[in-house]
Amino acid sequence: MGSLEADVRKSIRTIPDYPKKGIPFKDLTTLWRNGKLNRRVADALEKKWKGAKLDKVVGIEARGFIVGAPLADRLGLGFVPARKVGKLPAKKVSVNYELEYGRQGLEMHSDSISKGDRVLVVDDLLATGGTSKAAATLVERLGGKVVGFAFVTELKSLNGRRKLAGYDVYSLAKYD
Ligand code: AMP
Repeated sequence: MGSLEADVRKSIRTIPDYPKKGIPFKDLTTLWRNGKLNRRVADALEKKWKGAKLDKVVGIEARGFIVGAPLADRLGLGFVPARKVGKLPAKKVSVNYELEYGRQGLEMHSDSISKGDRVLVVDDLLATGGTSKAAATLVERLGGKVVGFAFVTELKSLNGRRKLAGYDVYSLAKYD
């Protein structure tokens, strides 16, 4: 067993040119199928955020659900999905943003966050930060306060942290 960061990096598979030429896709399914490592990841995220006086965890569709829902359970908090356009059935708020490989929309139910809720936004990976920033915009539009962002991994060269400046941004394994 190495350091958590080394073990996480070793367990993630990189698929070149997916879904488009020039994108090195980080495939976390090879991490998630490993029960022991999955638990060490959840332990580390729980430890980082358990003192943060949070009210809710927002997970970003779809891989943010895989990381966010178990974390919400460990922290004893509600879980709120931020979903792709057209998936949520009730009254909602929407935002559009630029992605590393295209344009995308994100939505949340209008009653999913209460005014003053302290919220953690979770996804598997931080790239340009556009997706997480969009989720934060929705949370803030609903009157919530974004306390921080949690990721399993981060592509440093895409400067996502710059877009999330001023927030507490945490990732377990960083790639240059
Ligand atoms: P971004 O909005 O650029 O920070 O992109 C983050 C979102 O896109 C996350 O939901 C990631 O799962 C996904 N994503 C972006 N780039 C990659 C990549 N190179 N490998 C895997 N997932 C990615």
